[in-house]
Amino acid sequence: MVVTMQAGLIGEDPRVIAVVQKAQRYGLRPDVKSEVGGQTTITQVFMRDGDPKTRGVKACTVADHIFRPMEGVDTVQRLTPPKVSLTQNGTDYHRVKIGSVEIGTSLPCRLVMGPCTVDQHVESVLGALGDKGIRHLRGGCWKPRSSPHSFPGFGERAVLSLLKAARNLNAESVFIEVIESSHIDVVRYARNQAGYSGTIVLWVGARTVNTILLRTLGAQTEFPVMIKNGVDDLGISGLYDKAEWVLAGAKEWTGEGQLVVEESLKPGNSALILCLRGTRQTDNLSPWRFIPNHHWAELLRARCWAPVAIDPSHSAGTMENDLVIRNAEEALRHDPSLLMVEGGYPANGYDGFTGLCDQAQMVPIDRVDQLIGMVRQHNKARYGLDVF
Ligand code: PEP
Ligand code: MN
Repeated sequence: MVVTMQAGLIGEDPRVIAVVQKAQRYGLRPDVKSEVGGQTTITQVFMRDGDPKTRGVKACTVADHIFRPMEGVDTVQRLTPPKVSLTQNGTDYHRVKIGSVEIGTSLPCRLVMGPCTVDQHVESVLGALGDKGIRHLRGGCWKPRSSPHSFPGFGERAVLSLLKAARNLNAESVFIEVIESSHIDVVRYARNQAGYSGTIVLWVGARTVNTILLRTLGAQTEFPVMIKNGVDDLGISGLYDKAEWVLAGAKEWTGEGQLVVEESLKPGNSALILCLRGTRQTDNLSPWRFIPNHHWAELLRARCWAPVAIDPSHSAGTMENDLVIRNAEEALRHDPSLLMVEGGYPANGYDGFTGLCDQAQMVPIDRVDQLIGMVRQHNKARYGLDVF
């Protein structure tokens, strides 16, 4: 990896020294080279692999975004294909922009709401949430169901109506689940059709195991990516494994199956969010649909740089005894960057209709103020900011 500084900076410049010191903190061996010409000076910092005897790391495992935003940095170039994992940055948390706000560790939590599945009432549901002040929306268009006999979502049609509603509400961001690579193009097309200009976050759900999708999401930077933990994950390593595919970027292989190095150097997509949504319930008498895993947030933040989101809806699975709301309250104690909650229908539905999927866990519209109040309270207490 070579970090090229802006023209004119000499090796002793504090901005160059900052890059060198950061590289050393990451366990790399930075090597500064300056070319002094008649017109200007070009300084580059070559990131050599650290010495394994002193807990040094390989340069290919360090993410580009660690140096790219630093003052005085012009470009970051790879000499070998990146093999970035989530583990190489415990202290420099990465930020992801959704609309006009940034999310990440040590930043306020943002509330994302919307129906489990986009249906014929999407405009009204999102409109009601918009009236409450919700700026970040969600809606399922392709649903990976456990049974082939269950409703699979309206697909392309749903994406278009979701994004049209988001455009009308001037929503900051919309979260959409994708199941296969072709869905990325469908979303791009629908966004242009709908004229939606906020951020679209594409998420990979708990039931999706598709490395081609993950790689394709990693080969683009137009859409941030959220990865939910797998239903059967036993710990955080499942999220690390999936994230690595997104962070690897595009790869080219020869007919003989060898990596084409010069075409495999571009970094992957580091606008990455990890989402905790619970793991498989093993107690069939429990009222909880999945076992909440909110405490993984602390484990992730101690070791990795990606923002951590929590979805309290799916682990609760029901609004009986206010379970979703209580679970959201518990989730906030783990300081998530995002809280993604399903809901927005009137308490009695539209003539009794409260959605096509996960009806039991929808937070009715008249309880949304309570959720907003909880998030505001959390952000005020922790960050001194009255936002949600
Ligand atoms: C959803 O958010 O509606 C969903 C299907 O989530 P998960 O993949 O966590 O089950
Ligand atoms: Mn759902």
